[in-house]
Order: sequence, then structure tokens, then C-alpha cells
Amino acid sequence: MADKKRITTTLSSMPPFEEYVEEIRPLWESHWLSNFGAIHKEFEAELNKYLQCDEISLYDHGHTSIESMIESLGLTGEVITTPFTFASTTHAIVRRGLTPVFADVKADDYTIDPASVEKLITPKTSAILAVHVYGNLCDVDALQDIADKHGLKLLYDAAHAFGVERDGVAAATYGDASMYSFHATKAFHTIEGGAACIHVHGWTPEQNHEFKVMLDQKKNFGTTGKQKYGYVGNNNKMNEFSAAMGVCNLRHLPEYIAARKAAAERYWERLGDVAGLNLCRPKPNVKHNYVYLPVVFDESVFGATRDQVQQALLEDNITCAKYFYPLTNDLECYRGKPGFDVADTPVAAWAADRVLTLPMSSFLTTEDVDRVCDVVLSVPRR
Ligand SMILES: *Cc1c(COP(=O)(O)O)cnc(C)c1O
Repeated sequence: MADKKRITTTLSSMPPFEEYVEEIRPLWESHWLSNFGAIHKEFEAELNKYLQCDEISLYDHGHTSIESMIESLGLTGEVITTPFTFASTTHAIVRRGLTPVFADVKADDYTIDPASVEKLITPKTSAILAVHVYGNLCDVDALQDIADKHGLKLLYDAAHAFGVERDGVAAATYGDASMYSFHATKAFHTIEGGAACIHVHGWTPEQNHEFKVMLDQKKNFGTTGKQKYGYVGNNNKMNEFSAAMGVCNLRHLPEYIAARKAAAERYWERLGDVAGLNLCRPKPNVKHNYVYLPVVFDESVFGATRDQVQQALLEDNITCAKYFYPLTNDLECYRGKPGFDVADTPVAAWAADRVLTLPMSSFLTTEDVDRVCDVVLSVPRR
């Protein structure tokens, strides 16, 4: 095992070192390292264009951006959401003093099931917080219909959907607002970072812009002018070094995605027709980002459990992740709280017990993918 090359679940993309150094060189002249500097401004404009947003506000983390949007949109009471996500989505709702109500997911791509959402609406519901899973978009049309019909806000955790488009329309344009994460392990990153994309239905462009300005002020301690603090704000600004990483990574994104695509296609070629595996492949009209390589192992058909597969990979010096597992309605910090019960979301529970995300990055070679697939396919025969 020791002499076998280690293949990891993910590897952060790195722009050429010299290019990053050139990008940050002006900071040594300006001494302007944070607080809405020149690189922040440039990055925000480029990103706004790339994501096709109306308005965007950059953050230190994706998580803080979704918390700030929940607060600033004035959501109250209950928010219908999915447990098949990262802890962040559910924590954001709870930390803002609201009650998450868990809908189940669809069995094909594990995004929130609109039929399940509709059944959970009460007079206390103020919003739906859905999650695009593994780069696969939610059923955005059905969710928008439900939101319109019941007068609910529709928010997306789009941490997995950077660069994803449906029929040329970017993920960030769906719903009222979307959160992006630029954490080091995502398909696109700023080391740590995130963004709030805003396009609230029924608001004028001016209203959406005013909302963006409010988010900008709130993430800077609620500063509304010189020595003026109009909000009880937080400190969630993106710094210039992160913005510079974003500028460089955005420039190289097409190469990163092409490399991921090649790896994903090799995986699909090797594993796509194997009975008992669901690879959550993207729909044909979707421009995908190949951010993860999820495989859901139905042990009754495949002949091995995901834990057996993970163990076999580990023995071959290959790491992979149980992601998303556990469900967020099963997290230790919520145990015993009313409404947190995996039995309410059986499809999500089934998937969380069977999913592995196999190694995926822009550095993965065909040989690496073949090695991973050889091990996966060997497990049922052991
Ligand atoms: C990464 C991630 C987050 C958190 O984003 P940060 O930038 O790390 O705060 C939230 N939701 C999902 C689905 C994620 O994958």
C-alpha cells in the first residue's frame, strides 16, 4: 500500500504560482488588504457576469452569506428544506432562530422533492431553502410554482452549482436568492469565501440593488456611513488575497472543468452500466461542473455495501467520502429535537446510508480513475 500513489477524495485547484503572485503584487504598493479593495471590486464584477446574477455580494464564507440572506429577507417561522445537505444549510436556519421543516428528496438525483415540499406548508412557512446536489439542479420550475402559489421566498444553497447552467441559464438566476461557497474543496474557490446572489421576484432592479447594499453594510459591522452604524452587523467581508485567488481561478476555470469532465466521463464509462449503482448523471440540457463523483450503492443489486467499498479503497491508498452523511436531521446537535427524524425522509435516509463520493479533482488522470474503478468493481467478488 505504501508504494501505491495516494488518491484523495479531492484536491484543491491551484492557479500557476507566478500568476497569483502577480495578482497580489499591487497589494504591497497599496497596503489595501481588505474592506472592498480594487481586487474585490474586479472579482465581484467578473463573478456577477459569469453567474448571470442581478446583484452579488462577496463573503468570507458561503455559510455566512446564507445566514445573512435569511436574516435580511426577514424570514420567519418555518423554512422547508432538505436534510440531504451539508450541516451548514440546516445550521443557518436554526442559528437565525427559525424552524427547519424537512422535506424528502427525489430518488433519481436526491434534490428536494417538490411534492414533499407542498405537503409541509403551514401558515407559519415563510420560505423554501433548497439545495442543488452534486451539481444537479433542483426541480426549479416546480419549486417556483409552489413558492408563487403560497407567497413563499425561494432560496438555493448553490454551493455545488458553480458554473452550472440549464439551457444556457445559470443556476444563480433561479429563485429569489442563491448562496455560493468558494471553499478550497469546491469546483471553484477563493481559499475560503462565498457569495450571495440576489434577484428577488417582484422586486425592481433598484430594490434588488438596495438589498445588495444592505448586505454589503451588514457584512461590515452594519456600517452605513462614516461613524454610522445602522445595523447590528457582523464581519464577513472577503479579503483581497481571497479575491485574487478568485480572479486567477476564474481565468482557469474552463481548464479545471474540462479535466473534471474527462475524469467523470471515464468513471461513467466504467461504472455507468453496472447494476445497483446510481451515478446521478446530469440531464442533457444541463452544463455541468463535475464537482463530485457520487455513487449510490444498492447492496441488494450490486452485491457489496458502500462501507465495504470504502474499506477496499482505503486498503488501496484511495480515500473517498460519505457525503452527504449523516443527514442533517440526524446530526448529534439536533438529537431528540422535535421535527428532526430521519424516518420522515426515507428516500434521503436510504441514499445517505449508501452514498460515496469517489475521488474527483482537476488533477485526476485516466489511470487514477481506472485504479479506483478496478477496486470498486472487485468488491462484490471478494
Ligand atoms: C461547502 C458547503 C457549504 C458551506 O460553505 P462554506 O463556504 O464552507 O461556508 C454549504 N452548503 C453546501 C451544500 C456545501 O457543500
